[in-house]
Amino acid sequence: MMGEAKTIVILGGGVGGVVTAKTLRKKLPEQHRVIIVDRERDHLFAPSLLWLMTGSRTSGQIRRPIERLAKSGIEVIQAEIERIDAVERRVHLVDRSGSDRDIDADYLVISLGAELAPERVPGLEDAGHSFYTLEGAEGLWGALGDFDGGRIVVLTATPAYKCPAAPYEAAMLLEDHCRRKGLGDRAEVAIYAAEAGPMGVTGPEVSNGVRQMVEGKGITYFPEHVVVEVDAQDRRIAFENGSTADFDILAYVPPHRAPRAVRESGLVDETGWVPVDRNTLDTRFAGVYAIGDVTGIPLAMGKPLPMAGVFAEREGEVVAHNIALDITGRGEQVFFNGHGECFVETGGGKAGFGRGDFYAEPTPQIKLHPANRRWHVGKLLFEKSWFRRWL
Ligand SMILES: Cc1cc2nc3c(=O)[nH]c(=O)nc-3n(C[C@H](O)[C@H](O)[C@H](O)COP(=O)(O)OP(=O)(O)OC[C@H]3O[C@@H](n4cnc5c(N)ncnc54)[C@H](O)[C@@H]3O)c2cc1C
Repeated sequence: MMGEAKTIVILGGGVGGVVTAKTLRKKLPEQHRVIIVDRERDHLFAPSLLWLMTGSRTSGQIRRPIERLAKSGIEVIQAEIERIDAVERRVHLVDRSGSDRDIDADYLVISLGAELAPERVPGLEDAGHSFYTLEGAEGLWGALGDFDGGRIVVLTATPAYKCPAAPYEAAMLLEDHCRRKGLGDRAEVAIYAAEAGPMGVTGPEVSNGVRQMVEGKGITYFPEHVVVEVDAQDRRIAFENGSTADFDILAYVPPHRAPRAVRESGLVDETGWVPVDRNTLDTRFAGVYAIGDVTGIPLAMGKPLPMAGVFAEREGEVVAHNIALDITGRGEQVFFNGHGECFVETGGGKAGFGRGDFYAEPTPQIKLHPANRRWHVGKLLFEKSWFRRWL
């Protein structure tokens, strides 16, 4: 019945969650409750982890308290999401003091991202730094302080991970850092990748373009190297194909999986991720939506839509708009169309830029613009506008 107060519960205060909550709050009359839940106090702007690991940012500069959303009339709960009952739209929470409770939703939006699982590779956590976390990126910056030459290895543990450009950007920023530090020939940067080439979903032209950017900086590239284990003592990586690689500093992208609460909710399929309608982000449960990294959206070319903030953001806007429409009856239904873009930092104050239609068939249609200063400035402005707009 129209006019009845509704409760929308958003799980996750990352990219998709914050965008959904703020968009909904703007579109819905006050009587409706918008609740957001995250275990963390702070929302993290992950693209800037690459600048944190090379000392261009401090951790305080790239995060904001999620509690700031309360100023906009959003209820913020800091708690661990233990269980999700998608049929009842009921979520079981445990807060820091250990007290637990259930909350019920009329609409449930799941934006819990991907959980990082470095422990799946023996030795990885002890041997290296995951620049996909705040602590890991800070640890890498610390290690670079003592680094006076040697071999830096960037490793992707599995072929699929969020922001497929990030390890390639990381390698180029590390190379730039060594050059600026005057290490010259004493330092070497290499990438060992589980995948066959950079950003494979974007097609051979973009993939080769990024590979050329990387190799043009003197970074050696070893695709299709799947790590088996890492020896922290000997600083040596062993790969499935029988080869090994030595390192002085190891910067790695760990394996990803859906968060436990999602895996145990019956929402995931055999891929391990949440299947959704690719245009509306509906799950198979009424009133339950999933957006962002936690979803698995197959593309016609056989691989899933890459995990990226730009998609989580747009999917969040679509879901918020359509929930508001369902409640108020105002407006027209909108759809997520698979369009996205990303900057590719290449070091030296430059970046490339890729943009296109990932839902295009039979293959995504993406164009890569060569690196220049303008795109780098674009990324700086994007960081600024992110916090201004959302938090
Ligand atoms: C180094 C790096 C660089 C990147 N650069 C870019 C870029 O340039 N462009 C781009 O588009 N994307 C980029 N990304 C990817 C982007 O950050 C993610 O795709 C995006 O954050 C996904 O949004 P999300 O809402 O799905 O998940 P997230 O933003 O990861 O949010 C998930 C939230 O859920 C919370 N959570 C999870 N489980 C629980 C639980 N059980 N209980 C309570 N809370 C929980 C987490 O604390 C987290 O806050 C980058 C990522 C990294 C790591």
